[in-house]
Amino acid sequence: MRITNALVKGAANGQLVDIDIDPITGKITTITPAAGPFIAETEAEIYDAAGRLVSPQFVEAHIHLDYANTAGIPRDNESGTLFEAIEIWRERKEAGLNNPDLIRRNAIAAAKSAVEHGVGFIRTHVDVTDPELTAFRVLKDVKEEIRDWCDVELVAFPQNGIYAYQGGDRLVEQALKEGADVVGGIPHLEPTREDGVDSLKHLFDLGEKYGTRIDIHCDEIDDAQSRFVEVIAAETTKRSMQGLATVSHSAAMSYYEPGYMARLLPKLASADVTFAVCPNENLHLQGRGYSHATPRGVAPIKALTDFGLNVALCQDSISDPWYPMGNGDLLRVVDTGLHVSHMLQPKYIDNCLEFITHNPAKNLGLRGYGIMEGNPANLIVLDAHSEREVLQEGCPVLLSVHRGKRVFSRAAINTDWES
Ligand SMILES: [Zn+2]
Repeated sequence: MRITNALVKGAANGQLVDIDIDPITGKITTITPAAGPFIAETEAEIYDAAGRLVSPQFVEAHIHLDYANTAGIPRDNESGTLFEAIEIWRERKEAGLNNPDLIRRNAIAAAKSAVEHGVGFIRTHVDVTDPELTAFRVLKDVKEEIRDWCDVELVAFPQNGIYAYQGGDRLVEQALKEGADVVGGIPHLEPTREDGVDSLKHLFDLGEKYGTRIDIHCDEIDDAQSRFVEVIAAETTKRSMQGLATVSHSAAMSYYEPGYMARLLPKLASADVTFAVCPNENLHLQGRGYSHATPRGVAPIKALTDFGLNVALCQDSISDPWYPMGNGDLLRVVDTGLHVSHMLQPKYIDNCLEFITHNPAKNLGLRGYGIMEGNPANLIVLDAHSEREVLQEGCPVLLSVHRGKRVFSRAAINTDWES
């Protein structure tokens, strides 16, 4: 396959290129200056990008596929809080509403929606605080079922805590034995601050034992005293696990005083902790109960980015008790993230796709990611000519290629004015 007349950031000094893909290996063989209108005769399938932007497939670094498409059942979240959502989810589990076939169909529908918006890689947290590990076992099958069009990583995520939920620690380990890719956790929901710290030490132990990365729902709470991020930085450094731990959400960081932040940021940087921030969802969930001057409750994306920390922007939910919206469109998430963080300056606008491509790829530790010769061909054609245009217009994906195979294509929308 050849994608001709492609605009690829960083390639050929801004000139258009042709991208050749080996159909057998699925890898990019060559990237060469575009041959122009006279394409040499070839057996290959040719897609003319016509000067449009070609990007690596987007990476969704934080989503819950096992929760997707369940909003309203057994009931709606009336308060809009995270805590009512967790309660609804517990009711749902206890009522036996999570049958494997339903979880499978809902998860695949959610993954498809994300892929149709340009995603090719997903890290999904999967609730393992269930003695049967029902969702985890289903998602393991889903991972295999959709691997031709999307790579999925499974996080063993104890939604109700590893100590707050009896046997939660054993269930996380059982999921790791059964093939979970990443260790999850939720220290701010453990019974005490000390239990939260102990939970992190235990989860890091498991990460070391099973050789996995760590991705913690950390300080997703409107409480400036919730300070587990610093524990993650300390454990990462102590164990020489730099670059292997991700902090998800960290809403409480938006409440930290400048003095504390000034001490915290260098520790996070030396531990090379990566961040998964979900601005749309945390704007919805956090800062409830205030009558005016409502806090935003979104981790300080700009401060983290400016300090050189790696920030991925993520969807988190597609229609579940936590968040009734969401469709896997990461361009909307980037739009929200840059707006809420006062980041509409050219240096962020013109590199906005980093937050949903190379940054989340670093969180996941993806190898061979990016449009380069020798890498697997995982790429999309956007109906735009710059990252700025993508952000401003929310441009559709016209072609998606995963492992060198076309996943889908769609026609550009044309508007015919009458005059
Ligand atoms: Zn989450």
